[in-house]
Amino acid sequence: MTTYDTQVIVAGAGPVGTVAALNLARRGIDVVLCEAGPDCAQDLRASTFHPPTLEMLDELGVVDPMLEYGIHAPVYQFRERQSGEVVEFDLSEISDRTKYPFRLQCEQHVMAGMLAKQLEQHPRAEMLFNHRAIAFEQTDSGVELAVETPYAIDHVRGQYLIAADGGNSIIRKWLNVEFEGFTYPEKFLCLSTKVDMKEHFENLSYVNYISDPEEWLVLLRAPSVWRILLPAPESDADEYLLSDEKAHRVFSNLTGDPNTPTQHRTIYRVHQRVAKRFDHGRVFLVGDAAHLNNPLGGFGMNSGIHDAWNLCDKLEACLANGHDPAAFELFGRQRHQVTHDFIQAQTIQNKELLEVGDAEAHALKLERMRAIQRDPVKRREFLLNQAMFRSLEDAASIT
Ligand SMILES: Cc1cc2nc3c(=O)[nH]c(=O)nc-3n(C[C@H](O)[C@H](O)[C@H](O)COP(=O)(O)OP(=O)(O)OC[C@H]3O[C@@H](n4cnc5c(N)ncnc54)[C@H](O)[C@@H]3O)c2cc1C
Repeated sequence: MTTYDTQVIVAGAGPVGTVAALNLARRGIDVVLCEAGPDCAQDLRASTFHPPTLEMLDELGVVDPMLEYGIHAPVYQFRERQSGEVVEFDLSEISDRTKYPFRLQCEQHVMAGMLAKQLEQHPRAEMLFNHRAIAFEQTDSGVELAVETPYAIDHVRGQYLIAADGGNSIIRKWLNVEFEGFTYPEKFLCLSTKVDMKEHFENLSYVNYISDPEEWLVLLRAPSVWRILLPAPESDADEYLLSDEKAHRVFSNLTGDPNTPTQHRTIYRVHQRVAKRFDHGRVFLVGDAAHLNNPLGGFGMNSGIHDAWNLCDKLEACLANGHDPAAFELFGRQRHQVTHDFIQAQTIQNKELLEVGDAEAHALKLERMRAIQRDPVKRREFLLNQAMFRSLEDAASIT
């Protein structure tokens, strides 16, 4: 059995845990990052990085290779599938506010992998793959985490523990904190293809939200593929949703070519849930361990990275000046409130807009969107809000 001693323990090497660990190591803080898997999970989930997240990654010194690899998407579109109407927003209009006036389309595992490599070489960091957190104990002065390796149960002792172990977080379960919210009844199906969707739609941007009462869609370009996200009834069996028959139907409706080859076919269950509290003494929930939301708007990973960023400031101060429960309580309140007021509310609204639902209500929403688009002041506010600048300002204003 091995015992590690460190200042901060991070569980989970997804995008949020790797950002937290590298941020701390670069501040001169000792950190041990325990990841259950043999590497950073390669599944195709988040692919949109918003401008303030890119600014944070710039501070970590990792943004340049990401900018080189990823696709810059300044424009995103809301499309009406039936009428063909397009309402478009262009982040270039806020280039006075940010060095990165675009969404960067880049798979989350590419970033997590880059950060894990840096952590492996960092003198302040220990990157432990195949180390699954299984239980922890906290006292007034620290936390001890038990981790399962292929051959033993090891222990990691630190002053603080960051739970970045994803939506199924075992640390959240041990804390017995309520994970309030709901799970959507329908499934979400994600298909990807190397066929260029721009050839099938006039003036398509790289990020497109397409409303339709029968089958709404999100069409996104990632560096390696185009991704198509759509809802699927709960009653449809997974085998059918992953079958050629279903893919043929989707592409037949989308491009007219049922035989479009696919690279990935994945089914997700989607939740809108927020942990009742993010700070628990010396243990903190961040990212999907703390909150889950639908992917419409690209906020889940980005807001998790923003949680980690906020928490690292408080950790640095407390490690330098002594433990201050009020600092961590402030982290919890700041991030809980913006998760609730912005991330949850906005993602629920985004889904309602795509679904159309009641035709009259949808017409009103669409008219509101057109009005925002036409008015330069409202349009700028919308761009700053959707780019997540406002949620960071709102969090900072909570004292
Ligand atoms: C289809 C889809 C599209 C999405 N698109 C976007 C998008 O464009 N933009 C966006 O911001 N968000 C998006 N999201 C959400 C985003 O994927 C998540 O919010 C993000 O992955 C959360 O990161 P995380 O690091 O908190 O958790 P995860 O990515 O789930 O990482 C958790 C890590 O912890 C590890 N782990 C789990 N249990 C343990 C344990 N006991 N011990 C040690 N390690 C453990 C896991 O192996 C994993 O590596 C999307 C989600 C889906 C499903």
